[in-house]
Amino acid sequence: MKNKGLIIVHTGDGKGKTTAALGMAMRAWGNHLRVLILQFIKGSWTYGELEAIKALSSAKRCIDIRQGGLGFSQRESGKQDEHRQAAIDLLRTAEQELQSDTWDMVILDEFNYAYSFGFIHIDDLESLLAIRPAHTHLIFTGRNASPELIDRADLVTEMRLIKHPYQEGIKAQKGIEF
Ligand code: ATP
Ligand code: MG
Repeated sequence: MKNKGLIIVHTGDGKGKTTAALGMAMRAWGNHLRVLILQFIKGSWTYGELEAIKALSSAKRCIDIRQGGLGFSQRESGKQDEHRQAAIDLLRTAEQELQSDTWDMVILDEFNYAYSFGFIHIDDLESLLAIRPAHTHLIFTGRNASPELIDRADLVTEMRLIKHPYQEGIKAQKGIEF
């Protein structure tokens, strides 16, 4: 019997939204589910998970990760149009991939940022949810999840900031942040 696909949201100002989604991807991979991770906003930064997923995909199982943004640090005002276009392009990819019905889990990492920046419209969200195959789990990450997404979700977790090393001036470290 096929899964009942869930709409899952990881939001909040604490750390762990993307890493929890990657944990789910790993768990799904271990169960032979086909997993696609599409990353909004993030650009060509070398995250450790890219290497890990490359290794997992060579085990003849379907797992893929693609970055469709220009990078978090590049959000200067002059590039708004490019950021918007990149988000729309990745959204179209997400729609095509969902339509093709080749995935059991699709993670839209940092989607909530692209949405809250106004790059993605509520109609796009509606159509994305409408074309999702019934068995496919969809995971959305990023701060400031919209009320309309939360409303439609089956599972919503808020990561709450209690302490973060940045507050002590400790910079991003390998294996922890990237
Ligand atoms: P992670 O990818 O580590 O699971 P996240 O997905 O919850 O983090 P994002 O909102 O995507 O967090 O933030 C991107 C970057 O900002 C990450 O490098 C993350 O470690 C860092 N970050 C997350 N939460 C905080 C925070 N409360 N204060 C400072 N930096 C943070
Ligand atoms: Mg994240």
